[in-house]
Amino acid sequence: MDQTHDPSLTCWVESAEGAAEFPIQNLPFGIFRRRGEGGPGRVGVAIGDMILDLAACHAGGQLGGTGRLTAVACGAPALNGLMGMGAETRRGLRRQVSALLRADSPAYRSDPGLGDRILVAQSDSEMLLPAAVGDYTDFYASVHHATNVGSMFRPDNPLLSNYKWLPIGYHGRASSIVPSGTPVSRPQGQSKSAEAESPSFGPSRLLDYEMELGLFIASGNPLGQAVPIERAEDQIFGFCLVNDWSARDLQAWEYQPLGPFLAKNFATTISPWVVTLEALEPFRAPAATRSPEDPRPLPHLDSARNTEAGAVAVTVEVYLSSAGMRDRRIEPVRLSRGSAADLYWTPAQLVAHHTSNGCNLRPGDLLASGTISGPAKESRGCLLELTWRGAEPLTLPTGETRKFLEDGDEVIMRGFCERAGAARIGFGECRGRVRPAIVRG
Ligand code: CA
Repeated sequence: MDQTHDPSLTCWVESAEGAAEFPIQNLPFGIFRRRGEGGPGRVGVAIGDMILDLAACHAGGQLGGTGRLTAVACGAPALNGLMGMGAETRRGLRRQVSALLRADSPAYRSDPGLGDRILVAQSDSEMLLPAAVGDYTDFYASVHHATNVGSMFRPDNPLLSNYKWLPIGYHGRASSIVPSGTPVSRPQGQSKSAEAESPSFGPSRLLDYEMELGLFIASGNPLGQAVPIERAEDQIFGFCLVNDWSARDLQAWEYQPLGPFLAKNFATTISPWVVTLEALEPFRAPAATRSPEDPRPLPHLDSARNTEAGAVAVTVEVYLSSAGMRDRRIEPVRLSRGSAADLYWTPAQLVAHHTSNGCNLRPGDLLASGTISGPAKESRGCLLELTWRGAEPLTLPTGETRKFLEDGDEVIMRGFCERAGAARIGFGECRGRVRPAIVRG
């Protein structure tokens, strides 16, 4: 940790003082443009309810030192260039931005009109995808999720024998990753109920969300060269929230023998601000406790540092707002609260495993954790688990019930970190509303 984490640090941007999401200790990166402006976005840093325009900072000579090296990357319409510059440059830029924004910044003291040139209100902006995601991989890192889902489908053998030896994952689809706020059309597809003789085609009836944490790859690794677990965190630029929308009826019919396909690739929503690994430093936690009978990871997935502090203690929450609730002006209701510290596999283990065969990761690649569930019922990160496949429907404040998502439902995911002695930081929102299936005439 360094001076950028100091909880007593104050900022000249008024809304950053006591901000629950974006105080000066957070400084997440994103791609924004002014509302109605059109065209490509540019790199910004969230501060309070404002955005620091990094291209404007470079133009005004506000970012010196190693920060100067990022001028070209900060003028780009995606974070890939900045991600590719590696951990040292990123840390240098964070220190420069922190120094510029702190209350005693000489640049601001000598020029109180500075804010008008380098800040844009978040309310006047729209957030775009933070990176051009070349490849997207989704893991299955919560043993609680895997055990719950496994016990529904295989009561005698909920957890398969490979689970505690390697992080299970599949290659997802990057083209359908959308930023928070993008509507999601109910997918159509094939499904087959147990009673039916043959499958039918139509709108999914068992649409679900999955609450996940995503990580963006930094500089990446050459094809054929694995990333050792000791250096795996250097390959992590930062984190966002991920909603891996899932059509359970399509999934049940298609997933054997090659895994998820059309049940998952119709949309994946991500939160637009990328919270860096540096910002999360005060919230590192030991890798989730394994029981004595669990196997010790093989050497390429094991390190002392990973065991001691490999996890990130991000609290994740899911809220639901139905059309009926909005009509009656009822606030979104919280469905669950879990923690990424409960994941069986850590971010470094996901990176080390992914590259262990020589597979190359590139700047801006997205790796998602899989549904984050904990041991308690209130921490289950999808409706499949919360309603136990529809057997235990939820009741909303309007009296409506839910087994799975209905048209008009809006799923809102939030994430934050807090502990004594550190400033609370947030991830912002990952939001998406379900609209009816587009049925061909
Ligand atoms: Ca998933």
